[in-house]
Amino acid sequence: GFNCGIVGLPNVGKSTLFNALTRSGIDAENFPFCTIEPNTGIVPMPDPRLDRLAEIVKPEKVVPTTMEFVDIAGLVEGASKGEGLGNQFLANIRETDAIAHVVRCFDDDNVIHVANQVDPTADIETINLELALADLDAVERSIQRLTRVVKGGDKEAIATKAILDRIQPHLAEGQPLRSFGLDADEQYQLRSFGFLTLKPTMYIANVNEDGFENNPHLDIVREIAATENAVVVPVCNKLEAEIAELEDEERAMFLDEMGMEEPGLDRVIRAGYGLLGLQTYFTAGVKEVRAWTVKVGATAPQAAGVIHTDFEKGFIRAEVVGYEDFVALGGESGAKDAGKWRLEGKTYIVKDGDVMHFRFNV
Ligand code: GDP
Repeated sequence: GFNCGIVGLPNVGKSTLFNALTRSGIDAENFPFCTIEPNTGIVPMPDPRLDRLAEIVKPEKVVPTTMEFVDIAGLVEGASKGEGLGNQFLANIRETDAIAHVVRCFDDDNVIHVANQVDPTADIETINLELALADLDAVERSIQRLTRVVKGGDKEAIATKAILDRIQPHLAEGQPLRSFGLDADEQYQLRSFGFLTLKPTMYIANVNEDGFENNPHLDIVREIAATENAVVVPVCNKLEAEIAELEDEERAMFLDEMGMEEPGLDRVIRAGYGLLGLQTYFTAGVKEVRAWTVKVGATAPQAAGVIHTDFEKGFIRAEVVGYEDFVALGGESGAKDAGKWRLEGKTYIVKDGDVMHFRFNV
């Protein structure tokens, strides 16, 4: 699975968000293959398409796909120098696929701010600086090591060192690598470093209930994000925590009263999914209708491999019906009659919403 680490200064609303996410979550028992740490929550991907498919197929069970969120508490100034729980914190972030950076954009005299005033620019800089310094440390060590290696004329080492030399000053200024403008080849060349500031990042602007518009704090976050190709998701974490407590029926009424189409959390979860370049395909059998996550661009065998590695190894063909066709034609047999049921081979690139059935050798 893929995961997204929640970071931010103390008291910005991280735990509130994390608790809301996990409370709306599914029971760990349904996912026996995952060992779950207390700071890790497996959150179902909201996807109305799953319900539409279930209406047609009427399966015994409906299983959403999921995204994992990890609450990474403990970042303080000086973390990159190993202060506080700094090292542990950075190690935890290194293991995540994407970062959700919570920024306080709400005024509330009852909630103490670590720097005594709500200041998104300073908050973002503080966190980004620690992450950039951690990356800088890795870069400088590697430059030292590679300086010896390049004397031997190793082409790959020379190329890698050349990139590291270029990015070093950017990090030294406290700037994240995602704003450096590395091309895909360069990023690929640096993949083994697992740079923190190169991870796909979204800013969760934690606003008050009435803070979605005319909120200068939020405007600032948007401006900063634009300079680094980062995504901004404004959300009121406190409100989301309240919504997550409600039973389904109450929740629907509450959202309606608030004029909200869906919980703000759904936007957070979807943004995390988008950030990682993920998409969904479905399997639709009478036992189970289920959503699965694959990378955009995945082939049919790779999609099969998400269910089981044997499916990928022994892949023969995939039976595929596009989601729209499946729904419009009332299911698989209707799609077959209309000529919308296809057999696809190993090179087929999966499309978002494909309803798939795999044929494989065991
Ligand atoms: P963390 O240290 O980043 O995990 O922050 P918490 O989630 O513990 O939140 C710190 C305090 O801010 C708590 O008292 C929350 O109730 C409060 N808080 C969180 N989100 C909001 C919000 O959107 N508006 C307001 N007014 N308070 C919030």
